[in-house]
Amino acid sequence: MNEPVIVIVGRPNVGKSTLFNRLTRSKTSIVDDAPGVTRDRIYGEAEWNGKKFRVIDTGGLVPNSQDLFEAAIKEQVEIAFQEADAIFFVVDGKSGLTPLDIEIAQNLRKFTKPNFLLVNKADSPELEIIKNDFYRLGIEKIYDISAINGRNLGDLLDDLIESLDFSNVTDKPDPRLRLSIIGKPNVGKSSLVNSLLGYDRSIVTDIPGTTRDSIDSVLKYYGQEIILVDTAGLRRKSKIKENVEFFSNVRTFKALWNSDVAVLLIDAQLGIENQDQRIIQEAVRRRKGLIIAINKWDLIAKDTNTAKVFEEAVRRELGTLDYVPVITISALTKQRIYKLIDLALKIHDERKKKIPTNQLNEILLPEIQKTPPPATPTGKEVKIKYITQVGDHYPIFLFFANEHKYVPEHYKRFLERLIRKHLGFEGVPMTISIKDK
Ligand code: GDP
Ligand code: GDP
Repeated sequence: MNEPVIVIVGRPNVGKSTLFNRLTRSKTSIVDDAPGVTRDRIYGEAEWNGKKFRVIDTGGLVPNSQDLFEAAIKEQVEIAFQEADAIFFVVDGKSGLTPLDIEIAQNLRKFTKPNFLLVNKADSPELEIIKNDFYRLGIEKIYDISAINGRNLGDLLDDLIESLDFSNVTDKPDPRLRLSIIGKPNVGKSSLVNSLLGYDRSIVTDIPGTTRDSIDSVLKYYGQEIILVDTAGLRRKSKIKENVEFFSNVRTFKALWNSDVAVLLIDAQLGIENQDQRIIQEAVRRRKGLIIAINKWDLIAKDTNTAKVFEEAVRRELGTLDYVPVITISALTKQRIYKLIDLALKIHDERKKKIPTNQLNEILLPEIQKTPPPATPTGKEVKIKYITQVGDHYPIFLFFANEHKYVPEHYKRFLERLIRKHLGFEGVPMTISIKDK
């Protein structure tokens, strides 16, 4: 929980996303092994010498319009300030120092946390000299690196880990549900949180044991405690659409990462939009429990079929993610908001549920025999011999088979549906992995 966050900033084309991909590659592969997930390469996890951290790429942040450019860069750096525990400022060693680099460096000066200047595209030692040009930026920690071939990244990451504070990171299991209420601006996140807590959270200060710049709250519910992970805490006004969106995304994604179960709020009048889809994808990719709550239900004129029609529309958008529960609520009138909490608690339990190996095999193997995976291209039979569940935080099912490489995606989805049909796991994304026996 609460691993340090590194934000990568820099002008376009310096190699930010190349660096991001290299840092997060090994970590995302297992996680991306989920049916129905497409990639969105802005947020990722990385690990160096056993220490985990998170990486955010500010990639597409800079707007096209020239007159907004400077303001946008300023904001980009400000956002990085607020969200980052360290910054990677990337410049292009091949094209040399540009005015925009100087601009970014000036804005970075206020940043008191670790700040690394990465002179990228120094693909070989002979190119080390290109670093010299950049000392003018006045940033002490300067590294000539190659995002493409990994040159000097080891040294950089050693120093990064050294400079970060990992004291907040605990592997100690906290039995309390960490619940995040997320969604686009104005869908009713603060209203819902306030209704649940019975007071306006924005006027309370931090509680001990929560992260520094977020306001998490404790909800007491029938004798148990639930941590409401903050998202609504900070609002920004900006003329730059890209930045407003980016900021709200960063907040949302951080809250998502730090929670066990997420409630994605949708405005009943708007339905599911692109940004919601991105949040859903990320929740699934990170294997977080997920509930879709259609809020402002009080505003919808109802006849007997309305709820069904709404739910069906949302279901169509969800596609194969048919295990995600959909509930209609009103933060304003408090309609069904405690039902929502009950559901979240249930999903939290489902996510931790462990099915004993013998039970798993007894239930699934006969079904698999009835509908086995397709044969290999050379006509060899593919046999699944054995199934077991692993993973401490979310369900991972390992299916051991010969010729495991030939088991297609659609068959993995079939296996997932089988598990859900017999064993539940409502609202809980899972990993289906086929291994060599
Ligand atoms: P971004 O816009 O800052 O995210 O930059 P990209 O990661 O998209 O990279 C821009 C271009 O620079 C691409 O063509 C990359 O292949 C190239 N590039 C990135 N890193 C390196 C590097 O370390 N060495 C070289 N030679 N090219 C690089
Ligand atoms: P946030 O930006 O997601 O935190 O949204 P807010 O909680 O600030 O709510 C945005 C607006 O929607 C406010 O004017 C709220 O009063 C209104 N709102 C929130 N929930 C409901 C609801 O359930 N019903 C109605 N009618 N309005 C709501």
